[in-house]
Amino acid sequence: MKQVKQIKAISFDGDMTLWDFEKVMRHSLSFALEELRSRIPNQASSDLTIDKMIEIRNSAAAALSGKVFNLEEIRLHAFKRTVESVGHTDDTLAASLNALYLKHRFEDIELYPDVIPILDLLRSDFSIGLLSNGNGYPERCGLPDRFNFVVFSQDVGVDKPDAGIFHAACRYAGCDPCELIHIGDSLESDVAGANGVGAVSVWLNRDLRQNESGIVPDYEIRSLSELEDIVKRNG
Ligand SMILES: [Mg+2]
Repeated sequence: MKQVKQIKAISFDGDMTLWDFEKVMRHSLSFALEELRSRIPNQASSDLTIDKMIEIRNSAAAALSGKVFNLEEIRLHAFKRTVESVGHTDDTLAASLNALYLKHRFEDIELYPDVIPILDLLRSDFSIGLLSNGNGYPERCGLPDRFNFVVFSQDVGVDKPDAGIFHAACRYAGCDPCELIHIGDSLESDVAGANGVGAVSVWLNRDLRQNESGIVPDYEIRSLSELEDIVKRNG
C-alpha cells in the first residue's frame, strides 16, 4: 500500500498530456517536406512522405541511442539522412530544414483546452512542475512562468521511468516522492515511473485506451479537469 502524505507538488508530462505532440510534429514535418521538395525537385523528394520521415528519424535516434541525448541534435541527424534519402548530401540544407521544423514544432503547439484552467486552479496551493522526456521547454511552448520546476530527461541524462528523473523533480520541488502526484499519458514512462518511487500516479487516458500493460495507476482520468477531485482526496 502506497504511503501518501499530504501532496505538496504536482508534476505533468508534456507530450500528449499538455499538448498533442503527434499533431504538431506531423504539421512541422510538412513544412520541412515542402521546403525539401522545392530545393531538391526530383522523383525521390516527391515520393517522400511524412511517415517515411518519421521512420528515418526513429532509425537515426536508434543509431544514436546512448551516444547523443540532445533531441535537436538527433533531429538534425535525421534531416541529414532525409536529404540523403532523396539523393543529395547537403548539411546546410539539413540544418535549414531542422531550423524550419523546430520553429513550427514549438511556435505552433496547441495546448489541450483543459491545460490552462487546471494550472490556474492548482498553482496557488502546489508546486507545479513539467517532467518530460521531450524538449518542449515551457518558454518555447507558450507557457512561461507556469511551472515552479522543470525537469527534462535530456538535461538529467535519464529518461522516465528511471527513478533518477523523479528524484530530481522532488529535489527541485522540495518534497518527498510520497508528496508528489505525477500525471501523464504513458503507462510505461509516467505511471510506472511514479509508482517506482512511491509517488501518486495518475494515468491520463484521453482516448479511453485499454490498459493491457499490467501497470496499475493510482488514478485514471480522461481529462485534466478531474485532477481537482484527486488533489482534494489526497489533500
Ligand atoms: Mg507523454
